[in-house]
Amino acid sequence: MHTPDELSERFRASGRKVTAQRQCIFRILQGDETHPSADAVYAAAVLEMETISLKTVYQTLNDLADLGEITALDVGTGMTRFDPNVDDLHHHLVCKSCGSVRDVVGTLLDLTLPEGADQGFELASAEVIFRGLCPTCQVASEPGDHDLASAL
Ligand SMILES: [Zn+2]
Ligand SMILES: [Zn+2]
Repeated sequence: MHTPDELSERFRASGRKVTAQRQCIFRILQGDETHPSADAVYAAAVLEMETISLKTVYQTLNDLADLGEITALDVGTGMTRFDPNVDDLHHHLVCKSCGSVRDVVGTLLDLTLPEGADQGFELASAEVIFRGLCPTCQVASEPGDHDLASAL
């Protein structure tokens, strides 16, 4: 994703309005590695600008995706996640408990299929999702009070 200032330029150049609300969303997305949902972007934005609407958040996210500045991802967490990292080809780690998403950068970038497995498809890209438990959820699922309670 470009910097907030560059994004403002690109929005204007493409005939879109640049408002303080939109610039607030640009800043929130800048460097965000959590792959936020629209709701998460809204929750962060409303702390800075209480007049911002969820509709503005959705529109701005859609515009950014149209311009190729962010990617809309469906990684099976039940809501679309937005990824400002469009410069580095990467895969994802997804926590099957809390739905947190992280980038896997710099490995497995030249994935190919064995002879014949492509079934005649002309392949353009491959995205891998590694599912498991994030560090926080591993701690939460360790034997302890929780297991004790269910054993009683
Ligand atoms: Zn987790
Ligand atoms: Zn990502």
